[in-house]
Amino acid sequence: MKRVKDLLFYSKNSNPDKFVLKLIFYHWIIVSTITAYLFDALLLGFIGGGLLYLITLLTYRSFSGSQLYRNIVALVLLSFSVIMIQQSEGRIEMHFHIFAALSFLVIYKDHKIISLASAFVIIHHLIFNYLQLYNVSLFNTPIVVFNYGCGLDIVFLHAAFVILQWFVLNLIVRQMSATHKELQRTQDALQSINRHLESLVDLRTLELEKAKEEAETANNMKSEFLANMSHEIRTPMNAIIGFTDLLARETSDPVHKNYVQSIQDSSRILLTIINDILDLSKVEAGKLQIEYNPTDIRAIAKEIKSVFEHKAKAKALELNVVVDDSVPKTLILDEVRVRQILFNLISNAIKFTTEGYINIRITTSTQQDQSTNLILEVEDSGIGIDEQEAEKIFEAFSQHSNQSNKEYGGTGLGLAIIKRLSQLMNGDVKVKSQRDKGSTFIVTLREVEITDDTALNSQRHEALNIKFKPATILVADDIQLNRNLVKEYLKDTPLKILEAKDGQEAIDLARHNDIDLILMDIKMPNKTGYEATREIKQFKDVPIIALTASVISKKDNKENLLFDDFLHKPIKYYALVHSMSNFLSSETAAVDSPKTDQSVPDLSTISLENYPELGKLLDQAKTAGDIELIQAFADKLEYYGNKDHIDEFKSMATRLTSAVSSFDIGECELLLNRFK
Ligand code: ADP
Repeated sequence: MKRVKDLLFYSKNSNPDKFVLKLIFYHWIIVSTITAYLFDALLLGFIGGGLLYLITLLTYRSFSGSQLYRNIVALVLLSFSVIMIQQSEGRIEMHFHIFAALSFLVIYKDHKIISLASAFVIIHHLIFNYLQLYNVSLFNTPIVVFNYGCGLDIVFLHAAFVILQWFVLNLIVRQMSATHKELQRTQDALQSINRHLESLVDLRTLELEKAKEEAETANNMKSEFLANMSHEIRTPMNAIIGFTDLLARETSDPVHKNYVQSIQDSSRILLTIINDILDLSKVEAGKLQIEYNPTDIRAIAKEIKSVFEHKAKAKALELNVVVDDSVPKTLILDEVRVRQILFNLISNAIKFTTEGYINIRITTSTQQDQSTNLILEVEDSGIGIDEQEAEKIFEAFSQHSNQSNKEYGGTGLGLAIIKRLSQLMNGDVKVKSQRDKGSTFIVTLREVEITDDTALNSQRHEALNIKFKPATILVADDIQLNRNLVKEYLKDTPLKILEAKDGQEAIDLARHNDIDLILMDIKMPNKTGYEATREIKQFKDVPIIALTASVISKKDNKENLLFDDFLHKPIKYYALVHSMSNFLSSETAAVDSPKTDQSVPDLSTISLENYPELGKLLDQAKTAGDIELIQAFADKLEYYGNKDHIDEFKSMATRLTSAVSSFDIGECELLLNRFK
């Protein structure tokens, strides 16, 4: 259909030269078949028409688009009029073709072509008039132009009508040209507006990209800054807490005691806020890495029950933890983040509930062979949330309006962190709540991978069974506590440990000793970890593991490729052993089954006999199982460790802090049990 349309009609997108070529082809067919048949003039019609078409075709091939082609076309079209007039021996109806042919030429919107064609017709009439007058014949056919006789008066009459048509067509062409020019102008104007708009959009996009880059850099700097600062703030904060403790004991003035108590409370709140802000900024800068591992969600549920049981009991609340049978035994999850989410939700539930119950349900939906949606639900019968506040509470630093900070405290960061963590793990969090009736928070993690049981705790299991062969390692860290922690972790191994307090010392030790592996802190005085590593790598081929408090990883920038691996502070025992085993010779002890509950290798006990205050805190932390109390105990342990130079206290404090920051309650319990 489209082809037929293309052939028969001319649209604004058609090529006029091509259209005229087709038109001439049809002329040939019509002239040769119809008129030749009607007037028995096959030779003239078919051969003549064919020749005209051939001329047009050949010129089209070489000259289409040129004025020459158009002139030829004009003459060819009018030559068809000549053929038709001749075939019919001058019938007046055939003269009408001249007007049709002239009209077709309007397609070129060019008065010169129409003038040429008109002149051609008038000259033809004039000459053929005389040929007719003098009875000239061609191939025995008399040449005729008018079938009713001839004479100059007839020629002039015909010429007059041709000139009239020429005049009308010229008017039309002029009008068309004016319209065309107007259109062209509008189109040009539109195009220029378009170009302007495009360049504006380009400019704005560039500006936006630049702004985005700047914002991202600022955000990254912010999170890097916060990561470093929180570490820097923790240490002096512990000193503040410790010394105010001393003050509290020294002073007997009840007013002063009260002041000191306020300082202590505020310090602890400040620490919590710093940790929360750090977490949130890490997620926001896209720097928090979700570490997926085989996870036993039932073990987490059990742990949670034991942690919160005391707290719930203290408020006379019923605590129910149910894991649905449909939940697979082992799922690929980030255990630390799942714990963090549950801890925050349950802490809130207990905080905002004065009587009734807390129900924790872990279920699945749309389970398939390889994956399932995991649903974590925390329901309470507490104060509830107004409908219009339900979205707001997930924003950072947002709390329910009119909420007494004195009564409930908090920073309004917990739910913001939960929301972002859920999103990072391909999920979301929703709340259903009614004021004074209670709330249910529902976290859905989508398409959680299901795995078989044997994969569980593989890293822990492996780490436990690794037995290093004798080797020398260098620990470079300006903070003694961190060096102590590594020494403590490795004290039952045959590894010889050298220590460096700064980058330069690390270089010197590496130059003069046989070293098999270096653990390198990044931020150090007297040459940073980067600088020291670059220098050492120049003279020694030794694996170097970076120890970093910030959230960088190997792929973050090119400089990081210097390092063979990365460990994030606080360093965890399993991660350390696992990473080291990639570079040191070791053998794996044959152990039948993973005993995760014996994960701390050294079970000797530590006495708190001379520290009644620590003993009291330990009891509280053990019975309440509260993560904040455990952290409080760890902080105080670190304080006394520093004050009385007890390395064991200091390293246990670091291990406890590490376990607390991973929400690893199992590990916390094991560590707490080592104290008497
Ligand atoms: P925080 O608890 O530190 O204030 P969150 O982000 O955890 O911060 O919670 C934000 C706010 O959401 C809370 O201050 C409280 O108003 C509301 N909220 C959270 N959990 C509950 C709950 N279980 N019951 C009632 N209100 C809640």
